[in-house]
Amino acid sequence: MRANLTEVLSALPGAAVGSFNVLDLDMATAVADSAEQLQLPAIIGVASRHFEAIRAPLLAPALRGLMDAYQQPLALHLDHAAPHQLPMIQHALDLGFTSIMIDGSHLEFDANVEVTARVAEMCRSYGAGVEGELGAVAGEEGVADTGSDHAEELPYTRADEAARFIAQTGVDALAIAVGTAHGIYTQEPHIHYDTIRNIAAITDVPLVMHGATGVSDAAIQTSVMAGIRKINFFSGLLQGAMAEVRHSAGNRNNDYLAFKQRVGQGWRGLIEDQMRLYAGNR
Ligand SMILES: [Zn+2]
Repeated sequence: MRANLTEVLSALPGAAVGSFNVLDLDMATAVADSAEQLQLPAIIGVASRHFEAIRAPLLAPALRGLMDAYQQPLALHLDHAAPHQLPMIQHALDLGFTSIMIDGSHLEFDANVEVTARVAEMCRSYGAGVEGELGAVAGEEGVADTGSDHAEELPYTRADEAARFIAQTGVDALAIAVGTAHGIYTQEPHIHYDTIRNIAAITDVPLVMHGATGVSDAAIQTSVMAGIRKINFFSGLLQGAMAEVRHSAGNRNNDYLAFKQRVGQGWRGLIEDQMRLYAGNR
């Protein structure tokens, strides 16, 4: 069922919805199949850095069709659009994306508010939801191998600033810096649960954690209990696919379809494990 960001998040009260960035229709189908299998809502994401590379404009009709073909609420999300990418945001909204993340976290507070409020306005006329970000998450979205192990050295999001940001922008969800990073960690990150609790205590706006690949199940569970309501997971899907590539590299047959099916099966296993975990193992 086609749903916007708010509809997807409110379909799973008290727990977190998984957001999985995809590079093709196979990956998107794996997300939708997993949602249907577990009867949980899910978010299919396209990172702004992949938008052109995967030809998102050509893929969009199929992704819209996917949302319509499944019973569970599914949102189509543009992930980490930068302040200079307003034309891409407009394009994504025209293509039927139901959720946009504007990442102005590298800007000064007032400039972040300004661009985020502007995107929220653009989204509203389409009935789409908007996610903002306050506080920098380390590493680069969509790049598995740049994981930072120094996330804890970056400042965590402050609750008083989060309250002002939400009030001044009208965001439907807020990504916060709590010690996680994009990409693959070489050591388990230290998550600052009090930051999550403090911000959750002052707002009903769902809080978002980026960089879940490599975070322990226990840390994810504690984060959800503290107030995280959307979790982004991506690098693990690349790891899973590449493991299958390496495993199949010695194959002498040319059965590409069977290979793709094995990759898809691997993705569904990973996605279902994550979705169950975020949903409180229901
Ligand atoms: Zn991210």
